[in-house]
Amino acid sequence: MQCYSLVCEGLLYGEIAPEKIDARDVIFMFTHGIRCCFDNLSSAASEPGGEEDGVHHLCLSRTAHCADLQVDCKGFEDMFGRVSEDFCQGIRKSLSGEEKGSLPAIFVDELRVASRGVWYPTLRYIRELRPQFGTNATYGVVSSRWSRFGDVLGLNEAAERDRYELMRTRVCWWEDCTFNKTPSPKPLLTCKGCKEARYCSAACQRRSVRVPFRY
Ligand SMILES: [Zn+2]
Ligand SMILES: [Zn+2]
Repeated sequence: MQCYSLVCEGLLYGEIAPEKIDARDVIFMFTHGIRCCFDNLSSAASEPGGEEDGVHHLCLSRTAHCADLQVDCKGFEDMFGRVSEDFCQGIRKSLSGEEKGSLPAIFVDELRVASRGVWYPTLRYIRELRPQFGTNATYGVVSSRWSRFGDVLGLNEAAERDRYELMRTRVCWWEDCTFNKTPSPKPLLTCKGCKEARYCSAACQRRSVRVPFRY
């Protein structure tokens, strides 16, 4: 378990070596936290007065489940706002070559690699919630910060959207298929049941019935 505001500070001031921190954990902390936060907002909306005492920090391991995490929305908003801002500043300074207060360049590269494939789907997820939470203050903070995080890292929304569509429509859901790792050159079959799952062949669909895989 690591507390990410301290992790960011440690990286900025050279107290933590970048190789000690897995950039994927940082990204996971953001994306998982965002989903937990809105899940909690949804359940709070459906049970008025049922607000939980959440844990007011972003300390979680990669295996942490929402139930253990208990992201408190107000707490999350404050922490997410602060931690993402710290990371953004550290990234920006690193990219503009400033030494003071910048994240190590190698770590910025790792953050960018780790964000590919999850930044856009999370942005999309947040946007889909706009009709439900658009007027909520937490929504505004999370939405603008997440968008900015990708911008600062140099991710291009149109390019990331194309990558996402390609993965969504050209990746076979059967885990052991060649087209599970590399997108298929041909359009895939869509499952008639859920209209979500995609397979390169009926054989892959049959195999996948027992072991469902979601991209
Ligand atoms: Zn299906
Ligand atoms: Zn297949």
